[in-house]
Amino acid sequence: MQATHEVFNQPAPLVDVNLFETNRALQAALAFNAPGLDTAGLRALGATVGSAEMQTHARLANVFTPQLKTHSRVGERIDQVEFHPSYHALMREAVGAGLHGHAFAPEETASGTAHLRRAAGFMLFTELEPSVLCPISMSYAVTPALQGNAAIYRDWAPQLTSRAYDPTLKVWRDKPGATMGMGMTEKQGGSDVRANTTRAEPAGSDGWGQRFSVTGHKWFFSAPMCDAFLILAQTASGLSCLFLPRVLPDGSVNAIRIQRLKDKLGNKANASSEVEFHGASAWLVGEEGRGVPQILAMGTMTRLDCALGTSGLMRQALSIALNHTTQRKAFGKVLIAQPLMKNVLADLALESEAATALALRLARAFDRQHDPHEQVMARLLTPVAKFWICKRGSHFAQEAMECLGGNGYVEEGGEGIMARIYREMPLNSIWEGAGNIMALDLLRAIRKADAAAALAHELAPAKGMHAALDHLAARLPLRVEEMATEMEARRLAQDVALAVQAALLAQTAPAEVFNAFCDSRLGGHWGYSFGSLSSGADVDTIISRAMPRA
Ligand SMILES: Cc1cc2nc3c(=O)[nH]c(=O)nc-3n(C[C@H](O)[C@H](O)[C@H](O)COP(=O)(O)OP(=O)(O)OC[C@H]3O[C@@H](n4cnc5c(N)ncnc54)[C@H](O)[C@@H]3O)c2cc1C
Repeated sequence: MQATHEVFNQPAPLVDVNLFETNRALQAALAFNAPGLDTAGLRALGATVGSAEMQTHARLANVFTPQLKTHSRVGERIDQVEFHPSYHALMREAVGAGLHGHAFAPEETASGTAHLRRAAGFMLFTELEPSVLCPISMSYAVTPALQGNAAIYRDWAPQLTSRAYDPTLKVWRDKPGATMGMGMTEKQGGSDVRANTTRAEPAGSDGWGQRFSVTGHKWFFSAPMCDAFLILAQTASGLSCLFLPRVLPDGSVNAIRIQRLKDKLGNKANASSEVEFHGASAWLVGEEGRGVPQILAMGTMTRLDCALGTSGLMRQALSIALNHTTQRKAFGKVLIAQPLMKNVLADLALESEAATALALRLARAFDRQHDPHEQVMARLLTPVAKFWICKRGSHFAQEAMECLGGNGYVEEGGEGIMARIYREMPLNSIWEGAGNIMALDLLRAIRKADAAAALAHELAPAKGMHAALDHLAARLPLRVEEMATEMEARRLAQDVALAVQAALLAQTAPAEVFNAFCDSRLGGHWGYSFGSLSSGADVDTIISRAMPRA
C-alpha cells in the first residue's frame, strides 16, 4: 500500500518459465523436421533461458554496455573492449549450449540433426538476449568456411567447436575455447563488397600457408574481442578471404586498431566497432581472388540465423503480450477477453508460428545437404526466409508492444523487455544483406537451381487443403520460371515465403491455425495491420496454442 493509492492491475512479469516446454509451435516444427529428435538438451536450455537469473543478466548486459579502452593507464595501445560480467555470463551459456561452431564437432555432424537442434537452441536463446548471439552466429558461420585452409582449421577446430568460453586475450592454443567474427563492410560499401579497398600484400609463408600484411579498415566490425576474424581484402588476384587472428602464433597482439564503438539503436550488449589494420598479419583462406564466394558461404549461415533470431524475438514479444493481456483489465474484462484484442493476439500468433515453421524447415536443409532437394531448398529458402521473416519483425514488435499500452514503451525491467525487442528488430533485416539484397539473391537462386520443380515438390503435401493455397501454389512455379525483372523480386520473395509457410502449417499446426493463416495471408480476408482476421477465424484455439504458460 502506498501513501496515496493502492497499486493494482499491473501484470506480473513472465519469469521462471521453461521457454521450450511452453512453445508448442517450436515443438511441432521439430517433430515435423526430425521425428524422434532427442529434445532433452533443448528442454534444459528452455529452463535456463527462461529463468529470472538469466533475465537479470540480459538486462544488466544491455544497461552496462561495452566500453572501448584504446590505451592502457600508461598510454600503451591496447585496443580492448570491456564488458559487464553479465555479458560474459550470457556468452558462457550460449557457448555451453553449443550454439556457436559446436555444430561442426565430429560427434554433432554424425548425428544428422546438428543444425536443426542448434537452430532451435538459437531461437530459444534469442528470447533471452539476442546481442550476444552476434559473435555466436559469426563463429557458427565461420567454422566451416575456415576449412578453406586445412592447416588453420586443424589447429583451431578444437577451440571453435568446444563448449568452453574463454574471453581472455591470449594465443589460441592456450585457450579452451575461441570465438570468431567477420569483417567485410567498409565505409564505401557493404552490400557491394567488391568496392573493398583494404589491401593485402604478400609477406611470406609458413605452416598456415601464404601470409599477407593487411592495411585498410572495416566500417562495421562486430564483437572485436573475438579471437580471430575472416575478412575480405584486395590482393594482386582480387578480393580474397583472409584469416586474421587477434593474437599471433608468437603471442604478440596483431595490428588491429579499434577506432571507436558504434552507438546503435539496439543490440546494446554487443560491441560493434570500426577498425583499422596497420600491416596486420593474415593468412589466405580458400583460393586467392575468390573471396566473394567464400564469404557468401558464411553469409548463408548467418542469414539462417537472422531468420531464426527474428522468429525467436517474435515468440518472445508474443509471449509477453499474452502474459500481459491475461492479467491486465480494462472496461471490466481482462484484455485478452476483449474481441478485438483477441484478433490482434491471434494474428500475431499466426505470424509467430509461421515464422518458426519456415526458419526451422530451412535449418533442416543444412542437415541434409546430401539430398538434392534439400540443396535447392537451402539455396532458395535462405533469402526468402531472411527477407520475409525479418521484414515482418518490426511491424510485429510494434503491435506486440501496443498490447501493453504505455508500459510497453518503457525501458524499465520486467515488461520493459518489449522496448529492447523493438529496438533489436530492424537489425536482422539490415545486416548480412538487407531486404533488396535478399530479394535479388532469390532471383539468382531461381536462375541457377531447378527451383520451380523443387518449389512445386515442397508445396505438394498441402495440395487440396485450402483453395487460396492451391491457387498460389499453381501459379508460383511458373512465376519462378518466368521471373525476369528485379522490380518484382520482393513480391516474389513474399509469395514464396507465404506459400511455403502455409504448406508447412498444413503439416505441423492444427486446422484452425492453418485455415486462418491461409484465409488471411493468401485468401484476402485480412487488412494492412495485425488484428484484421475475419470473424470466422477461431481466435480462441489459436491463442490457447500460443499461451506462454503450461
Ligand atoms: C549493428 C551492425 C553490426 C554489423 N556488424 C558487421 C560485421 O561484424 N561485419 C561486417 O562485415 N558488417 C557488419 N555490419 C554491416 C552490415 O552487414 C551492412 O550494413 C549491410 O550489409 C548493408 O551494407 P551497407 O550498410 O554498406 O549498405 P548499402 O550497401 O549502401 O545498402 C543500402 C541499401 O541499399 C540497398 N541496395 C544495395 N544494392 C542494391 C541494389 N542493387 N538494388 C536495390 N537495392 C540495393 C540495400 O538493400 C540497402 O537497403 C553490421 C551492421 C550493423 C547495423
